[in-house]
Amino acid sequence: MRMTVLASGSKGNATVIAAGSTRILVDAGMSCRELMKRMAQVGEDPEALDAILITHEHLDHVSGLSVLARRFNIPVFFTEGTHRAWVRMLTPRTTMSYAKWLDTVQREKAERADHAPAHTALMTEIDPGAVDDPMEAEPCADETPKIKADPAFLPAVEYFRAGHGFSIGEIDVNPFTIPHDAADPCGFVFHARSESIRMAIATDLGYVPPNVKMALRGVDVLLLESNHDLEMLKDGPYPWSVKQRVLSRVGHLSNAACAEFLLRDYDGGAHTIVLGHLSEQNNLPELAKLAAEQAIGGRMTLLGNRVVLAVQDTPLEPICL
Ligand SMILES: [Zn+2]
Ligand SMILES: [Zn+2]
Repeated sequence: MRMTVLASGSKGNATVIAAGSTRILVDAGMSCRELMKRMAQVGEDPEALDAILITHEHLDHVSGLSVLARRFNIPVFFTEGTHRAWVRMLTPRTTMSYAKWLDTVQREKAERADHAPAHTALMTEIDPGAVDDPMEAEPCADETPKIKADPAFLPAVEYFRAGHGFSIGEIDVNPFTIPHDAADPCGFVFHARSESIRMAIATDLGYVPPNVKMALRGVDVLLLESNHDLEMLKDGPYPWSVKQRVLSRVGHLSNAACAEFLLRDYDGGAHTIVLGHLSEQNNLPELAKLAAEQAIGGRMTLLGNRVVLAVQDTPLEPICL
């Protein structure tokens, strides 16, 4: 089983989980082009992806989603709440029902087509890929006007619910609720059935509630948020309201809260702990690593409890078990 963190942080998140012939992408928070580039760097093939799983609808987790999913015809798994929030985010007329909005878009498009050249009509449609990355071009560009008309179009959507496990190919997926200011945010535990190995992802959480502590028992690889140093955040450049949001129970996990979990609740059985979603403004890699390593203390050995840092700019070397 393999975990490859392609990116982690407020500018974009994406991780590939692989077991046997199954490939799952968790979050697609960079442009399709950047995701493809990073997958190529670590030897992952986007054509081989069986599914994209979305933790929550914040832009740093979904910005390349629709373009990537359409380009490679990949089914996307959301909770219903996250899917609805994502559709609303891409839909300018929030008071309309989705069906009504789609109807209106199609009608307006037909009207414009009567008065303007076809390419002008297309340019006025919302393309989330283009909004995300103005440089987004050929390899990922959508081709058909039909798809252009609906920014929330996906080749296939599957719903899951936190607390209800499901399978994708050779991987069992167990989603769990996390406390974060999104519609229905989730973390995941992945279990490669044939190898009895577990890998978990828990980022974007304000604190570690009992259900998350339970979910993270017995994992072999844990990607855990270590977002900010409390002092750096308090003294840092963010406006007070943003600081309050980050610090809140539905914000992000501090180095101290991450260390507290590792010290008091973590069972010590992981091969690797990956610290992720580090703030570039309010954290230093050394501080995050030091806090986690001190918390793990004597339990760190050559074969277990290795602490590594996931970063924003480059993919992390694949963790293979
Ligand atoms: Zn995030
Ligand atoms: Zn978030």
